[in-house]
Amino acid sequence: MSTGTTLTTGIRNARNVLRYLYGQGAIADLADILAPRRGAESRRAVFFIDSFFQKNGLPQRLNAITPDDQVIYVDTTNEPTTALINGMYEKVIDESNALPCAVVGIGGGITMDVAKAISNLLTNKGRAEDYQGWDLLKVPGVFKVAVPSISGTGAESTRTCVMTNPATGLKLGMNSDFTVYDQIILDPDLTRTVPRNQYFYTGMDAYLHCMEALGGSYRNAIGDAYSDQTIRLCRDVFLGEDMMSEENRAKLMVASYLGGSAIATSYVGVVHPFSAGLSVVLGIHHCVGNCIVMRAMEEFYPEGHREYWQMVQRQGVKIPEGICRDLTHEQYERLYASTVIHQKPLTNALGENYKEILTPEKVKQLFRKL
Ligand code: ZN
Repeated sequence: MSTGTTLTTGIRNARNVLRYLYGQGAIADLADILAPRRGAESRRAVFFIDSFFQKNGLPQRLNAITPDDQVIYVDTTNEPTTALINGMYEKVIDESNALPCAVVGIGGGITMDVAKAISNLLTNKGRAEDYQGWDLLKVPGVFKVAVPSISGTGAESTRTCVMTNPATGLKLGMNSDFTVYDQIILDPDLTRTVPRNQYFYTGMDAYLHCMEALGGSYRNAIGDAYSDQTIRLCRDVFLGEDMMSEENRAKLMVASYLGGSAIATSYVGVVHPFSAGLSVVLGIHHCVGNCIVMRAMEEFYPEGHREYWQMVQRQGVKIPEGICRDLTHEQYERLYASTVIHQKPLTNALGENYKEILTPEKVKQLFRKL
């Protein structure tokens, strides 16, 4: 934990997910949750489903999709761009003029974020890029439900939905209370089939969010309590025998939800800005990016660094290595720019004068360690 002065986050009145339903097989309740919404104006619910399920079959107990509904599969090869969001929005309004009665996101962070963004656009109109920033949405979106099928990002509980605008290079979400889900369904059965490495990378996002929040100066007592419990659950999962046992999959799903709730009132630190750099310059996905960045984080988070590598070893997962060793001068410059731009998290971790610590030479050195 940081020993410096405590700063307040400026986020004073936090909003959480309205309702949550938790338990093995809980996805079977989705039909009952949607039924009262299907009314005279529209019976159509729009489902955004991770393309993983297109190849591998839908979750067994998912029986909520009716012939009135629209199903859109979300390809998660690349992280969402504003153009992708705008394209999906057009698909939804082309199908019918009437607003759908609900938007449902079933999948990982990308799919859940896409569903949030479309729900917002349906009522606020316009383009995705109009709402990248803080509190730009004017009205609540269409009623929305998330069913995560992998645990860690906390997208089910956060007030943002991340997207990149390639024209401006801006990777920023629609940060708003209106982005928070109305209902989430946490069904640990859904994470049974996640590939092991992916399960680890994504789960570690919850651990790192909270390690960074607790290591920073911007603090909130309730956020700290969420973070403490998230880290405790992650230790059980990743220092335990099998991170994917039934019990541990249930624990990690809770950790993900609590971790997302924790960052609603705090900020991340050094790991996330470096990972964002990898994403913008080399197209590396968020969660594996965080894990790679941990190769260079010993001086900033000595305790967390030690524990993280213990978890890697315990679970026998592979963390990619050597991805930044032989880049061009121009690439290192872009990595620097897209890292130090994250002012709030870096101030949280290193103080206002963080650029005196993270000089271009220092940042290059750190990237070369990855
Ligand atoms: Zn994250």
